[in-house]
Amino acid sequence: MRAFEPDSRLVGDVVASPHHGARIGCTAPDAIVLHYTGLPGGERDEAWRRDPGGEALKWLCDPRSQVSAHYLIEEDGRIIQLVPEARRAWHAGLSSWRGATDVNSLSIGVEIVNPGHAAGLPHFHERQIDGVIALCRDLITRHNIAPVRVLAHSDVSPGRKVDPGERFPWAELAFSGVGHWVEPAPLEDDSPLVFGEEGQPVRALQAMLALYGYGLPLTGVYDKTTRDVVAAFQRHFRQQRVDGAADVSTVKTLHEVLMGIRD
Ligand SMILES: [Zn+2]
Repeated sequence: MRAFEPDSRLVGDVVASPHHGARIGCTAPDAIVLHYTGLPGGERDEAWRRDPGGEALKWLCDPRSQVSAHYLIEEDGRIIQLVPEARRAWHAGLSSWRGATDVNSLSIGVEIVNPGHAAGLPHFHERQIDGVIALCRDLITRHNIAPVRVLAHSDVSPGRKVDPGERFPWAELAFSGVGHWVEPAPLEDDSPLVFGEEGQPVRALQAMLALYGYGLPLTGVYDKTTRDVVAAFQRHFRQQRVDGAADVSTVKTLHEVLMGIRD
């Protein structure tokens, strides 16, 4: 018998994780946070490289981890549910979006099996992305989730998290009706705003990033937080170069992203 009835007809299996609690301040999710499973680092890496899906699943249920997600998507596209959608899963950690700091309470967490940056960012499998798209479409329909609220873990935890990374196919998702996307402006030869600069252009950049939802104060100083948030934006919307420098292409793309909001 299954530990609980799955919320989606797309679920292939239920493997219950004990790591969840009541949603705080809201009863239903209105955002999706996408992750990759990554590698744990150290001596456990070998086992994770051999069986990344199996090891990730074990870890998300292991009392030592104190982490979970609502869903895990295997490399072959199989969808496993670990936590009921009505419950608050423990996937985002310290995070912020549009002023809210308890992102776990307002979101559905989806872990995608991929070893990530530590393994040189291997591409996601086609069938796996089909699974991500199908699941997200189902979540968006059932919970009425706005396109701008389909987020990367790196969007809500910039500087701390880099998943699902700059190879994640956000454009492909958007073409299938998942998430907000604009074509990135081409790279130009220009002198970008960079770490250490101060003044009105920096404050204007910070204001635009905060308007979209990123958690950063408007200090007018291109500090570490600003650099981390610019890198997070690039990882999602301007993947050709992720360096945390606000070049013309990045700023133009940010303008377009803001212009295109419909929610
Ligand atoms: Zn993550």
